[in-house]
Amino acid sequence: MLKVENLKALYRGVILALDGVSLELARGEAVAVLGPNGAGKSTLVRALAGLLPSYEGRVSDGRIELGGRDVTAAGALAVHRQGLTAVLEGRPIFRYLTVRENLRAAGHRLPAGELAARMDEVFHWFPRLAERSHEQGGYLSGGEQQMLVLGMALITDPKVLVVDEPSLGLAPLLVEELFEVLARMHREKGMALLLVEQNARAAMKLAHRVYVLEHGRVVFEGEREAAERDADVMEFYLGAG
Ligand code: ATP
Repeated sequence: MLKVENLKALYRGVILALDGVSLELARGEAVAVLGPNGAGKSTLVRALAGLLPSYEGRVSDGRIELGGRDVTAAGALAVHRQGLTAVLEGRPIFRYLTVRENLRAAGHRLPAGELAARMDEVFHWFPRLAERSHEQGGYLSGGEQQMLVLGMALITDPKVLVVDEPSLGLAPLLVEELFEVLARMHREKGMALLLVEQNARAAMKLAHRVYVLEHGRVVFEGEREAAERDADVMEFYLGAG
């Protein structure tokens, strides 16, 4: 479904943030990309979404293939139309629009009937958003804002959902709840999920396979069980010895 080969990414022509990353995500698979601060995780998400130019960055080498098509230089809109939606870090929402208006904005390309059905689906996954549907985005809690950005991504019914650090700044119980919904959504909708996280413990619960990034390179790749057996991965990322 998604295939990344030897991807290199530069900011401002000089800062090498990705240094030859290769990874694959099969149809309906859930994969976690783990790594410490500055490892290149967000850069990978931006590259996959065709958004690096917005950050004064660019893919300098390698290839991104989506559904068999080369989308390395296709741009954000084309990637989106090909079925990949990325949820960027930092919960980008319209703070002065209500929950419902945010969802409508995210789904503005859909015919009205379809938009309504998709909105109902979002409220099914996140009943809390239905309760707060007339509240402005800026007044939501961090957890609710994360539900909203996920809802905004779901509106377009993606084949591949890429999520950057959904757990950031959330209380452990909320993280557990959110990941539970993500796992169910992934299973029931059959959508491929690439979960980019520093919170390895949470991410590994729903991932079939794991990649670990460090300094822009993949330093570990394997099934979740292999990651759990790998002493370095466990000690460094999960704090277990
Ligand atoms: P974090 O968890 O802190 O977001 P990350 O793994 O997502 O970390 P990136 O944000 O992808 O890492 O950063 C990778 C490298 O690229 C870092 O050295 C970072 O300083 C640099 N970088 C990120 N964004 C930019 C930018 N817009 N301009 C210049 N350098 C950047």
